[in-house]
Amino acid sequence: MPVTATGTYDDGNIFARILRGEIPSKRVYEDDFAVAFHDINPQAPIHVLVIPRGAYVSWADFSAKASDAEIAGFVRAVGTVARDLGLEEPGYRLLANAGVHAHQEVPHLHVHIFGGRQMGAMLPRA
Ligand code: AMP
Repeated sequence: MPVTATGTYDDGNIFARILRGEIPSKRVYEDDFAVAFHDINPQAPIHVLVIPRGAYVSWADFSAKASDAEIAGFVRAVGTVARDLGLEEPGYRLLANAGVHAHQEVPHLHVHIFGGRQMGAMLPRA
C-alpha cells in the first residue's frame, strides 16, 4: 500500500529494520551516511536502493531536517554506488517516490538506481 510522505517516522518500517540488521539484505555499499542494497523485487537487471542511515520519511523530510553532512554524504553515496555498479556508461535512472501519488511503499527515504537495460519513457501513462 502506498504511504503518505508527510507522516511521522515509523521506526518499524522495513528499511529501518534492514538498517538495524533485523532482517537480511544484499548490501552492495555502506558508509557513515548511507546503505545500499539490492531491491527484493527488481524492476531492471540492476535495481539497487540507497537509503540514508537517518530516520527520514521522504526527500522533503530529509532536505528540511538532515544536517549538511548527512545530505552531502547521502548524495555522494548515490553517485558512488551508481559508479561502482558500472552504470556511468551506458547510463542509468534514479527515482525517489514520495507519497501516495508516487506509490511510495516504504516510509523511509530511498533512491532507486535502475540500470542494465533501456529504461524507455520517463513515466507510464496515467
Ligand atoms: P517505493 O515504492 O519507492 O517505496 O519502493 C519500495 C521498494 O522497496 C520496492 O521496489 C520493493 O521491492 C522494495 N523492498 C521492499 N521490501 C524490501 C526488502 N526487504 N529488501 C529489499 N527491497 C525491498
